Amino acid sequence: MSMTAKEIRQAFLDFFASKGHQIVPSAPIVVKNDPTLMFTNAGMNQFKDLFLGEAPIKYPRVADTQRCLRVSGKHNDLEEVGIDTYHHTMFEMLGNWSFGDYFKKEAIAWSWELLTDVLKLDKDRLYVTVFEGDEKEGLPMDQDAYDFWKAFVPESRILKGNKKDNFWEMGDTGPCGPCSEIHFDNRSDEERAKVDGATLVNADDPQVIEIWNNVFMEFNRLKDGSLKKLPAQHVDTGMGFERLVRVIQGKTSNYDSDVFTPIIDFISKSAGIPYNAAATPDDKDWGQAVAMRVMADHIRAIAFAIADGQLPSNNKAGYVIRRILRRAVRYAYQYLGFKEPFLNKLVPLLAAQFKGVFDELISQQDFVQKVILEEENSFLRTLENGINRFEKYIQDNQDRQIDGAFAFELYDTYGFPIDLTELMAREKGLTVDMAGFDTELQKQKERSRAATAIDAGDWITVNEDDEVEFVGYDEVVATSRILKYRKVKAKGKEQYQLVLDVTPFYAESGGQVGDSGVLENENESIIINDTKKENGLIIHFADVLPHNLNATFIAKVNVHTRRLTENNHSATHLLHAALKAVLGDHVNQKGSLVNADVLRFDFSHFSKVTEQEIAKIEAIVNQKVRENIPLKEERNVPYQKALESGVTALFGEKYGDYVRVITFDDSYSKELCGGTHVKATGQIGYFKIVSESAVAAGVRRIEAITADKAEEYINNQAQLLAVLKELLKNPKDLTKSVESLLEENNKLKKEIEKSVLEKASVLKDVLKSKVTVVNDVNLIAEEIDLSNAEAIKNLAYQLKDIVDNLFLVLGANIDGKPNLTVMISDNLVKEKGLDAGKIIRELAKEINGGGGGQPFYATAGGKNPEGLKSALEKAIIYLK
Ligand code: ATP
Ligand code: MG
Repeated sequence: MSMTAKEIRQAFLDFFASKGHQIVPSAPIVVKNDPTLMFTNAGMNQFKDLFLGEAPIKYPRVADTQRCLRVSGKHNDLEEVGIDTYHHTMFEMLGNWSFGDYFKKEAIAWSWELLTDVLKLDKDRLYVTVFEGDEKEGLPMDQDAYDFWKAFVPESRILKGNKKDNFWEMGDTGPCGPCSEIHFDNRSDEERAKVDGATLVNADDPQVIEIWNNVFMEFNRLKDGSLKKLPAQHVDTGMGFERLVRVIQGKTSNYDSDVFTPIIDFISKSAGIPYNAAATPDDKDWGQAVAMRVMADHIRAIAFAIADGQLPSNNKAGYVIRRILRRAVRYAYQYLGFKEPFLNKLVPLLAAQFKGVFDELISQQDFVQKVILEEENSFLRTLENGINRFEKYIQDNQDRQIDGAFAFELYDTYGFPIDLTELMAREKGLTVDMAGFDTELQKQKERSRAATAIDAGDWITVNEDDEVEFVGYDEVVATSRILKYRKVKAKGKEQYQLVLDVTPFYAESGGQVGDSGVLENENESIIINDTKKENGLIIHFADVLPHNLNATFIAKVNVHTRRLTENNHSATHLLHAALKAVLGDHVNQKGSLVNADVLRFDFSHFSKVTEQEIAKIEAIVNQKVRENIPLKEERNVPYQKALESGVTALFGEKYGDYVRVITFDDSYSKELCGGTHVKATGQIGYFKIVSESAVAAGVRRIEAITADKAEEYINNQAQLLAVLKELLKNPKDLTKSVESLLEENNKLKKEIEKSVLEKASVLKDVLKSKVTVVNDVNLIAEEIDLSNAEAIKNLAYQLKDIVDNLFLVLGANIDGKPNLTVMISDNLVKEKGLDAGKIIRELAKEINGGGGGQPFYATAGGKNPEGLKSALEKAIIYLK
């Protein structure tokens, strides 16, 4: 029996630990603080600052397993997934790193030792590649890597590769360098004898696949496309865990290894359809096999993205997740007959599988499952609406070809992938205008590119200094110099970003907005609009650059705004603890926003927070405010120690080895937090919840205010009450007074109704006496004094009951608006073909209005009461 997936992962980590590597946890799959990246797409992402020399190196050797997602940006494998057997949306990347420590020689030797000695892969089946060089970039062939490999691998299996395969780049800009890949040939011996494996490397053969890439980071790709040498040389490796497991277990597909078989089995059993791993596109069970792979794969991406805090939504990263989920639901619906939500049922299986590896999932299993269930429900409804829309289109259009714009509507509004539309069209003997569809798609892509494009220039160094010091926890003023700056353009607006050597400005993070303020000296004053973080770097936004970049500045934070923001931030902590106390321990933070005006807190909870619960929560928080609890701020607490002391840590947050702990009363609120806070809770003044609502399935939102805003709110409420009291002539008991007002109002209403009824009954007799006979028809055409439409209707029905052969036209003035009613006996409708609906439309012209109804009864309203008379006179012509 070969090793299990679990054992293989552990063997990797143990091996590198034995070579002096620190084993670190995976970063969350959802990336914050990096505008160039939505999701972690490689193990190196979390170390980007280290490569660029922007953060200090703690451990020169590190290894881990990183959950990665390749569904957007430079690395996007989504369309391949499920069709092939070795590209996933989410996969684990096993990696080892050297930050300015060892280089090519050790990296190559260790990767060989691990694969062949420890994991016992067949040496004959391994091929390696090295960079052949690139003239345009001015880069030579990687002779060093070639020579190091020669010690282990015959030269016939060391292949030279071009820039596309052997020069790794994270994105359009950023760290990069030549790389050396390791490929595995999994074909049968006969096939291998027939065709030389070397010819199949990097040629998309599903049995000759890349398993490991060793990148030798040497450069930073700049905005203008040029390469700049990094301050030091690094090793960055990434091995696809699922591919490694598959080759060790001797399988021809990743989905046949024990990483995926439990899930594939469950899907297949639930669908009642066997999984045919060997199906090819020509087989009729191909679609079913792809569908099972898509579901087994996508559930991983969806579940981990949600666990790391990215809910499906309508824009940006949330939309990417929504689309992945919809792709899976659509396959399940179309090929496996899952018409009801099913994907969410895979979550417990997955959570159990990753227990002890990525515990994020098991600890939030219910929440993740619920979110997926709701998404499935709503998409299945959309899907059904889309199918109806499609059927209607086919009925309304006789063309043999489906319009490209319509196919795009199905794609864009109903989430139909184009191949689904094509398939549905084919079933009806139709085709789809693909060129038209592509044009629409292209147009949309351009629209969204234009909307989100951020054009960032390269950094221009002003002063050399690696370390940036943030002093904003203790100071709001500092003496600063500019280290570097760059120009950025977003949505047509140009701005400058500045990096300072010392800064009191808090950069937006953890929900707290960035500081604003000024940089000033005796010669000039530059306004800082905002402060943000990119990776680790604190960036200050300004509309203009100082004339003298080299000058020394006094950096001043806008203190008033900062203090109000701090009130709201500390109140958020008090609220979080109160929510847990009142609602239960399942409450987890799912998002927060803290600025000078308001605090907004999203949290997992499955039902509406009741008014009583809100009152309890407010009471607890205000109690804590009045206790004036001093802030306890501890910096540089070892992460493990902080956890043991019972702090609240957030999912989807990447914590370092040392963390900052914010405590308000050891037994009440203890959170890991990088934000700024009040010195004591009394500063918060007063806490008031102003709204409670739902944001997504299983996620509630509370908005609250504090201090000045809370005071303003309460004053407004008091003022409102004062105005009301005055209106009611200052009663002793306001509630009672309003109640009796309502009661009186009801009584009056009833009395009016009664008198209207009485009036109508008198009118009935009067009208009956006004019948004139025209051509055997009993005509009544009168203006009446009744100002209630319901009463007029009743009257008309009563007259119909007591007068035969009736043609009734009533005019009335209801509060200044003319109203017409026509009622015709049923026999006249039948025999004479009279139609009240048609007649009333004609009569309504006289009162500048319109109306309609049935052949026997119709009403109209209008604007001109003067016209009532002529309308009534006109009625008679219908009887002649
Ligand atoms: P490929 O050419 O097969 O797409 P790649 O060149 O994109 O691979 P790298 O960016 O070098 O891969 O990533 C390092 C390793 O991660 C690869 O050697 C492979 O084992 C694994 N890997 C890359 N993309 C995926 C994916 N979509 N699913 C699973 N594993 C992957
Ligand atoms: Mg790739």
